[in-house]
Amino acid sequence: MSRIVRNSLSTRSVQIGVGRDEQTGGISFPIYHSATYRHGQSTGYDYTRSGNPTRDILEEALAELEGGARGLAFSSGMAALTSLFLHFSSGDHLLVSEDLYGGTYRVLDQIFAKLGVSTSYVDTTATDAVAAAVTAKTKALLVETPGNPLLGIADIRALGDLCKAAGLLFIVDNTFLTPVLQRPLELGADIVVHSATKYLGGHSDLCAGVLVAKDEALGERLYFLQNSTGAILSPQDCWLLIRSLKTLPLRMQRHSASALQVAHWLQRQPQVDSVYYPGLAEHPGHELSKQQADGFGGMLSFRVAGPELAEQILEKLQLISFAESLGGVESLMTLPAVQTHGDIPEAERQRLGICNSLLRLSVGLEEPDELIADLAQALD
Ligand SMILES: *Cc1c(COP(=O)(O)O)cnc(C)c1O
Repeated sequence: MSRIVRNSLSTRSVQIGVGRDEQTGGISFPIYHSATYRHGQSTGYDYTRSGNPTRDILEEALAELEGGARGLAFSSGMAALTSLFLHFSSGDHLLVSEDLYGGTYRVLDQIFAKLGVSTSYVDTTATDAVAAAVTAKTKALLVETPGNPLLGIADIRALGDLCKAAGLLFIVDNTFLTPVLQRPLELGADIVVHSATKYLGGHSDLCAGVLVAKDEALGERLYFLQNSTGAILSPQDCWLLIRSLKTLPLRMQRHSASALQVAHWLQRQPQVDSVYYPGLAEHPGHELSKQQADGFGGMLSFRVAGPELAEQILEKLQLISFAESLGGVESLMTLPAVQTHGDIPEAERQRLGICNSLLRLSVGLEEPDELIADLAQALD
């Protein structure tokens, strides 16, 4: 029999778990709810926090999609990040993107700071600014690219070189682009983080988080943290995430195409002052984005003339929901200054440009013309 090639991301995504349940040959891999397992049968399983067959299928797939040695599934993105931060000790210093998910800021600023792990926030779109911020105590760099909510693009390869030279662990939060559009481990990252609540889950019906380690040793260390602290993803939710991953490549293509169309339309509206989307030629990270990613994703932000207009838009939207989160099939809009970034101090938000006139749109899979019609009537 000739070997069928299954290298493409689309084929691999669809085939996750297919034929892996040897007992039944089920196309869909079953949900193993058992919390514990009989000893003496050497199945490799003894207790579900330490390992579960459904979670194994998912974690293997996540590692494969990101091109890493080990994938780990957690109960939320914050659970994944918190477990990861527990790798560090009192006295350690972290460098983190300033254009950052608010929850990551909160856990570092209000919990890990008290435990003696300090953080500096830097403009990771400027590699030299990152280099200048490294101290003798710096242990890691955590980058979100594209940034949140301003979609700034960091040079993953250059930052990878910098981390290697300085002996830093290089962590990339890949929530916005997913492995379909960006694979940071191939560009020099050591660990990839996801809020799988967003695109990986993709249907606004699941809270999950992911870590993927580039090599076995780091994977073993992260597994130790996952098993010790216990913020694992439940078997039921592992199955749901497996199901979601099967359509991830298709969804990301459509999210990207629709977001570009909406971004171009927004650019032409007189009430819109600026549009932040890496797919626009005017975006400062456009060229870099083309080099390191296979698409620009479904997230964009835009600034309108004033906070009153932003309020009006949120009130008048009919198809697009005014809601937190992103990455689902349904389009969602938020006011980052109040919702996702509310925990970032006001002065810091002002400095970054996250004001009450800035709206963030997660472009879903509805017909793009109908999304534009909704935006048009809301802007009017
Ligand atoms: C949502 C989000 C998180 C946190 O994930 P949860 O699943 O909500 O805990 C972390 N990073 C980014 C970029 C996010 O968008």
